[in-house]
Amino acid sequence: MSMADPVADSLPEGLFQLLFEKSPGSLLVKANAPVFTIVAASDAYLKITSVKREDVVGKGFFEVFPDTDDDPNDETKARYAFNKVADTGEQHDVPVYRYDSINPETNQLEECYWSCSNTPITARNGKVSYILNTVIDITGEVKVKKVAIESENRLLLAAEATGLAFWDLGIKEFNFSYSPQLKSIFGHTPETEITLSFIRNQIHPEDMQHVVLRAYAEALETGRYEYEVRIFWPDESLHWIRTKGVVLFDEKKEPMRMLGTIVDITDIKRDDIRKNDFIAMASHELKTPLTSLKAYIQLLEIKLANATDPFVGTSLLKALNQVNKMTALIHSFLDLSKIEPGKLELKKQLFDINKLANDTIAESRIIAGTHHIKFQSTGEMNVNADREKIAQVISNFISNAIKYSPKGSTVNLTTELTDHHVLVSVSDMGIGIKPKDQEKIFQRFYRVDDEDMKHVSGFGIGLYLSSEIIHRHKGKIGVKSTEGTGSTFYFSLPLAD
Ligand code: ADP
Repeated sequence: MSMADPVADSLPEGLFQLLFEKSPGSLLVKANAPVFTIVAASDAYLKITSVKREDVVGKGFFEVFPDTDDDPNDETKARYAFNKVADTGEQHDVPVYRYDSINPETNQLEECYWSCSNTPITARNGKVSYILNTVIDITGEVKVKKVAIESENRLLLAAEATGLAFWDLGIKEFNFSYSPQLKSIFGHTPETEITLSFIRNQIHPEDMQHVVLRAYAEALETGRYEYEVRIFWPDESLHWIRTKGVVLFDEKKEPMRMLGTIVDITDIKRDDIRKNDFIAMASHELKTPLTSLKAYIQLLEIKLANATDPFVGTSLLKALNQVNKMTALIHSFLDLSKIEPGKLELKKQLFDINKLANDTIAESRIIAGTHHIKFQSTGEMNVNADREKIAQVISNFISNAIKYSPKGSTVNLTTELTDHHVLVSVSDMGIGIKPKDQEKIFQRFYRVDDEDMKHVSGFGIGLYLSSEIIHRHKGKIGVKSTEGTGSTFYFSLPLAD
């Protein structure tokens, strides 16, 4: 092992001086208060302060850079900093301060920001002999930050004007921040301190269970969420809010942050509720005459069972079919009016889904003599669900398959077991659905807007109701489809224990 060469290890004479002069923004002053004689200055320091080396070295600091005001307690000022470092022997930093300087290109005085530190250089006897003053130009950073703050303020103002509130939740640390508007949306005064659990407790318990938890689970998968819920204000009045936002994931795909907007939609909802009440009332009124119409047709069927004219029989059957269609439609309107304010109640019972599928197909065959309906299943599959509502979903899938596929084609219904769930699928060989429409057909009143669809009647509520019913059962619903080839609608329900 060779020893280090003592000559190569020491720096040539004058090199320290040179290094200092080339360093960014440095000035060395003697700790001889109150003069503070300048000992050395780097090129960069001379440039930013627009002075020449020969004019400053050997002069007192304040002779060259006079104080703009004489407040001895201003911690951002050099006099305070130098005195403090000289007295205490401790470093003193000024992270940001303003000191305007002349731009050599324009010769104009410009707004400038600096960050400076003052480091003591202590002699062997422990006394501070020099102070190293380093200055960095941070005008660019400060201006960028100013622009960002201004634009955030503008955004907050615009949000306030439109009643929008922002919130941001760090999932791991559970830190919650929000814009001031959030307090008024939840019925609080600006002085009230609120936390996430505080406002979570204001959400209607039913919506918490059916809407929020579901949306949260979905958001962790899709990265997006949007939902509407009822909240109680501290004065116990009921309000509606809509929230929409995104989940941000870290590099390990773990959810990191959730952020979004919240808006009060109580007025819109009150309108909606009035409309719903009207639909409920109208549907209810229509049900009574329709029930008696159906009874009369059925009586006529019995009375005219032996009629010789075949027209009588077929006409009565057609009339009954139309009455049944109308009854189904009225029922879906009634369900629609109940689903919105969260009034849809599930009457759960244990039943075999295959038996239900068979019963539903038998009923559908009466209406749909035009298609072949095939059913394939394996054994008994019990679920704990609302039998009538699940029948409604299957029947809706079948009637859509019939509506949107050519006469004489086959509709296949299958049930299968997948991972503690029952999967029910209905496939057709029909017109299919474009990918852009597939995302939307489960929304309320959404119908595909195509020329060749104009003649098919409907209100765009069947799939919306189906999806609400399945989601309330904690199941999944969806579609796979190829335009021009056909569609498969499916739902899954948890298997009963
Ligand atoms: P409706 O059939 O009364 O319009 P739905 O909510 O049942 O309402 O369906 C919404 C839309 O989805 C329909 O208008 C139709 O465009 C499309 N759709 C539903 N089922 C099918 C299907 N099996 N094949 C093709 N399109 C379908």
